[in-house]
Amino acid sequence: MKEIWLERMTYEEAEGYAKAGAIVMLPLSPLEAHGPHLPLGVDFFGAGTLAEQSATLLNRKAVKTVIAPVLPYALADVAMPFAGTVTLRAQTLKAVVSDIAQSFNAHGFKGLVIVCQHLERANLKTLQETASELTEAGMPTIVANPFFTHAETMNAMMKGEFPDLDLHAGEWETAFCLWLYPKLVKMEVLETLPPNWVNLREKLYEQGCRDFVEAGGEKCYFGDPSQGNPELGKKIYEGLAEVLAEEVIEWVQNSP
Ligand SMILES: [Zn+2]
Repeated sequence: MKEIWLERMTYEEAEGYAKAGAIVMLPLSPLEAHGPHLPLGVDFFGAGTLAEQSATLLNRKAVKTVIAPVLPYALADVAMPFAGTVTLRAQTLKAVVSDIAQSFNAHGFKGLVIVCQHLERANLKTLQETASELTEAGMPTIVANPFFTHAETMNAMMKGEFPDLDLHAGEWETAFCLWLYPKLVKMEVLETLPPNWVNLREKLYEQGCRDFVEAGGEKCYFGDPSQGNPELGKKIYEGLAEVLAEEVIEWVQNSP
């Protein structure tokens, strides 16, 4: 199979893709605490996996797509009470993503697809604003969000009692890690974790809680991690990648 990660290509190969009208996928997500059982990299591991799977599908469907190196930082204020989490100020995130996009634009790539697994509203809002500004400036950009469009299907696959409240380091993120990073999952800790069915959305966005601790996640997870299993992780990510590829195809077809 032809290489699709830019970091593994020569500049001549990259130029070939740019001349053929390729778009660039930029997986990004913060280094961020994910419960006492999962590694800090969950979100950017996930974004990278999604980018690779959906770019593979897109290339098969003749939408030429390459992937930029995973950017392991974003805005992640909600998890700042927990060690290891890094948050970028909105202006920093905007500046970094814009400079990356403009570099690819200068080389003739046709557009940018931002793939992000960290769904904090302020983070997504910043990325959306950045995408609009870049599009205005001549580099068509979208923030692909299969996590919202695929939510119902994902929820139907999960075994936990309230899958719609499984929002951080719970069943599906644990499942993802058990699938691709099993050695990084602390099984002896996972086995001791009871479900946490706090309504995170309500706490953060209606009741004004500032972070995961204030919202009732003193161990930095929301949902039921104990239900995660590798088969579920694989199934969920394959589904997400398909939805993401469809979203990109529609965007490419309707893009000027
Ligand atoms: Zn996450």
